[in-house]
Amino acid sequence: MTLGKTIDGKAFAAKLRGRIGEGVTDFVAKAGRKPGLAVVLVGEDPASSVYVRSKGKATVEVGMESYEFKRPATISQEELIELVEELNGDPRVDGILVQLPLPKHLDDAAVIATINPAKDVDGFHVVNAGKLAVGDPSALVPCTPLGCLMLLKDELGDLSGKEAVVIGRSNIVGKPMAALLLGESCTVTIAHSRTQDLASVVHRADIVVAAVGRPEMIKGSWIKPGATVIDVGINRVPAEEEGKSKIVGDVATAEAISHVAGITPVPGGVGPMTIAVLLRNTLVAASAREGLTAPAGL
Ligand code: NAD
Repeated sequence: MTLGKTIDGKAFAAKLRGRIGEGVTDFVAKAGRKPGLAVVLVGEDPASSVYVRSKGKATVEVGMESYEFKRPATISQEELIELVEELNGDPRVDGILVQLPLPKHLDDAAVIATINPAKDVDGFHVVNAGKLAVGDPSALVPCTPLGCLMLLKDELGDLSGKEAVVIGRSNIVGKPMAALLLGESCTVTIAHSRTQDLASVVHRADIVVAAVGRPEMIKGSWIKPGATVIDVGINRVPAEEEGKSKIVGDVATAEAISHVAGITPVPGGVGPMTIAVLLRNTLVAASAREGLTAPAGL
């Protein structure tokens, strides 16, 4: 086995977007319309605005319609729910994404619960979480963990019987990631903030997925030689140059790179996959709404 490989999520995501683009062309030919993704942005959070802009651009690039709904941070819970209900009923809209986090006075869970599960392209609705938990293939699966799984399957092929350790138990990343790995017949451990002796838990893994949000907390020495590492973390830290900042992951990559089979870089690993899978989920949702078979190979 060659060690020290960087897993190029950016290149994989570009190929995936190419296949989605072909799927969209096929969809348009059959359905006579474009798939549509509606993104709702509440408030002016700069990071969220950047994400929404890049999602809109990527949506249009694969040939889909992008609808953006910007609302002030002062919007009431009732008004936001009304907007989601309108989108549920809008025939042009196949996917609805409400950019999180919402301002504090709004209830994320209640807003997500209003989204029609068939249009829930983020996969956060309890119906989709439940479908994933019971292995129902019609689940719309959260984009980040599904993107991680695609990278792992591309690297390793069959994952059956492998020891997988997921660090982080959020509903957005950790829990659905663990469910997906279980679905591939891995032996799955979920570690979290209360886990005892995290170093030795991580050391038994063939597959490590780190989704914590703490800069480089997973040390290179914790990782078993030959393991494959997916680093989901996005952490802004001060750069060497004064006054500048940079993004790092949850894994101390410089310490790990020489003895891993593969590791995703940050940036350029999981991040680009998340947006590509959002487009994939929108095409899958659109196909299901039109009674078409979802394109193969996505
Ligand atoms: P979260 O804060 O909801 O969850 C973090 C998890 O880490 C928790 O379950 C907690 O138990 C665990 N944790 C905290 N401290 C720990 C410790 N010391 N030891 C072990 N576990 C610990 O975060 P999230 O939404 O799951 O996101 C995790 C990271 O992934 C963040 O950096 C986030 O920015 C990033 N993220 C990236 C993408 C992407 O597209 N690349 C998408 C989503 C999230």
